Parts: sequence; C-alpha cells; structure tokens
Amino acid sequence: MQEDLEQMKMKKRFFKFYLLILLSLFSFACVTEIDPLSGKKTYTLLSTEQEIQIGHKVIPVAINENEGLYPERDVQNYIKEVGYRIANVTPRKVDYQFYVVNSSQVNAFALPGGPIFITREILLKMDKESELVGVLAHELGHINARHHAKFLEKTYGMSVLVNILRIALQDSEYSGIVTSLAQVSAGLLQLKFSRDQENEADSLGVKFSYQAGYDPNGLLSMFQKFKALERGGTVEWLSTHPLPDTRIKNVQRMIAEQYPNSNRLRQDSDRFQKIKAILISTKESYEYVEKAKKYINSRNFSEALNLLDKAIQIYGSNQAYTYRALVNLNLKKYTESIKDADRAISLDNSYFKPMLIKGIALNRTHQWRDSAYILEKAKSLINDNATLYYYLGVDYQELGDRNRAINNLSTALKLTDGKQGWEADAQRRLRILRGY
Ligand SMILES: [Zn+2]
Repeated sequence: MQEDLEQMKMKKRFFKFYLLILLSLFSFACVTEIDPLSGKKTYTLLSTEQEIQIGHKVIPVAINENEGLYPERDVQNYIKEVGYRIANVTPRKVDYQFYVVNSSQVNAFALPGGPIFITREILLKMDKESELVGVLAHELGHINARHHAKFLEKTYGMSVLVNILRIALQDSEYSGIVTSLAQVSAGLLQLKFSRDQENEADSLGVKFSYQAGYDPNGLLSMFQKFKALERGGTVEWLSTHPLPDTRIKNVQRMIAEQYPNSNRLRQDSDRFQKIKAILISTKESYEYVEKAKKYINSRNFSEALNLLDKAIQIYGSNQAYTYRALVNLNLKKYTESIKDADRAISLDNSYFKPMLIKGIALNRTHQWRDSAYILEKAKSLINDNATLYYYLGVDYQELGDRNRAINNLSTALKLTDGKQGWEADAQRRLRILRGY
C-alpha cells in the first residue's frame, strides 16, 4: 500500500515534469504569424503574445533604472496621446504604452511588444512636436519590424525564454528563473541595433510620422541635435542607436524623394509648448538631485542632504524624495527615511527603489510585518535584488515563518556579488534556521 502510494507520487511527479517539457517545446516550436509589414505568413520562435509578456516583465526594471516616472500627469498624458496617434497608423497590433521617465540622460527606447520610454532630458532638447513624433515613430519602427523579438530569439536559448514566461505566468521564486529575467532585462536595456535595423526603423519612422499627419523632418532635426550634443558630452540614445552620417543622408533622400512638400504638414502645437514649460520649471530641481547623487557616491551624506533639501524646495519629485530617503537611511534617520520613501511611493507606485529603502528602514526599526509587506510589493516589480531577499528573509525569521525565511535568505546568497556586507549574517541565520 505504502509502496503503491510512493510509486503513484513518483509517476505523478514524472508526468508533471514531462508535461512541462512538452509545454515548453510546444509553445516554442513553430509559431505561424502574419508579418504586419509585408502581410506575408512567417515562422517565428516567439509569438506576439509571448513577446508582449516578456516586455511587460521588463517595464519595472526600465522605470527603476531611469529613476522613476516623471510625476506630472499632464506630461504623461500628453506623451500617451501623441504616441497613440502614431501607433494607430502602424500595421502591427501589440500593447503600445508610452512613459516619460525622470532620467537626465538624452534617451528614448522601446521594449518587446510595445512599451516605449522617453526621458525628461530628451524632451527638454526638443523644440517642437514633430521632433517628438520623429523619435517616437522611430521606436515604433523597431517594434513593428520585430527587432526586439529577433534579438531575443537570436541571443537567448529556449530555456531562458521559457523561464521568463514561467515567471510571467505564475510569479515563481525559483532563483534560476530570477537570473534569467535579470539577464534578459540587462540585454534588452543595452540592446544595440544593427545598421540595417536602424535604417529600417528610420524609414518606417518617416512613413509613420507622415501617415500620422506630421512633418517627417522632425526626426532629421533630432538627428542634427544629437550630433551637436555629442560634441559636448554623451548622448545615451547614440550608444544604442548608432548614427553614422550615411544614416542622416538616407533619411534626407527618402523624405525628398518619397514625401515632397511634407514641411507643410503639422510641425508643432500649443500643447507641446505648455508641456515643455512644465519640464523647464522642474529642471533646476533635477540638477540638484544629479549633484547630490555624486556626493552620495562618495558617501558625503551631509552635503548630499543639503542639495536634496534644495531640490525638494523647488520641486518634490519622486526621484528627489527617493534619494533623500536613501541619505536618511545611511544617516540612520529611519523615521525621516520612511517618510520620504512614502512620499516617493505616493507619487509613483511603480518605482522599486523607494520601496526597497522603506523596507530596509522598517526592518532596522524592527517593524518586521510592515517591512515584509513593502518588500514583497517591491519584489513583484523587480525580483533579482539580493539585498531585498536578505531583509525579507530576516523579516520572516523574526516573524517565525521558517520556510519563507530560508527561501529568501538562500536566494539572497545565490544572487549576491559577495560585497553587500550582510552575507555572513545571512549564512549564520540559515544555519540557525536549518538547525545545524
Ligand atoms: Zn533605433
């Protein structure tokens, strides 16, 4: 009897394993899709649905690495409106989303399956709506030509992509899956397209701008700005979208030959100028935050605090509050740190950093339950931060939840670079929890 039960269990386990393999093979074998650009049938490894799911998982990583969402709703809504106006003329139907992020880098980028990000700084460099349209249309070109999906198919093995889709489906905590997502996120956020792909995105961008009723010279005028800015410093956009002179000439020729007289099309709007005025009014505050970040890096927290106070006096962005929360955490001013983190979270609940800081400050003040609550929330956004797992493990140990404590502490040790300072404590706690 006992033996039968064991055998049945084994069979069941084997069946489950077999089903999983079969499922993974099946979902990746051969997807037939209609190529939206040519209208022809094509065979792809990743289906559109899978591409969208992977893109969704990377959105919080992109937001966190770009210092959170720009908190002004008018600005976000405006970019969405303009973005959808162009997306509506593109042939590919995916989940288009548009975000403005706080980053001070001149950049714009897209993720697989539709999300498009544009930085506060690149908007400040624009002078009219057609320039914004040019940049968004170019990114929509990459998405329509499946450039991200092709990169994923070429770079990562099936097992890595299957793992990511497993997290997308059931939020698994298995650390092998966690590393897969981290790997793919990093690859996508530094993704550099080939010269041919850039040319394809340009020609699609010009076409989409034109079809949406805008002067496609907007893209050209942004190219000229990037070139000029490059001489004075770094333009992040150029590091992922190489811009040789031939590319500029191609766009010039294309507009002259295929879209003559397009400078009569829409160039600007009052709305664009209003949005730009909002961005200009918050600029100084962000400059103080940038300076403060340098002092934080050299651990001069009192000078950083000074600058962040000034930033917040001018404009209290989620980014400024987040860095002041971080400084207060380092100064062991936990109550102030929690207050600042809360302000940042209330402005932007998709920003990982303030949640992690709040979780640590709550842990240090022995508020285990509240700490675990916010850290779980943070983990649902980004699940590869070793420090997060360590504090979460400590929270659960103190709350008497042995299994969760062991899982989180051991994941922390698997993910760490070994330089976080809590590794020995995590090992000591694991020994106690496991009883040896
Ligand atoms: Zn590009």
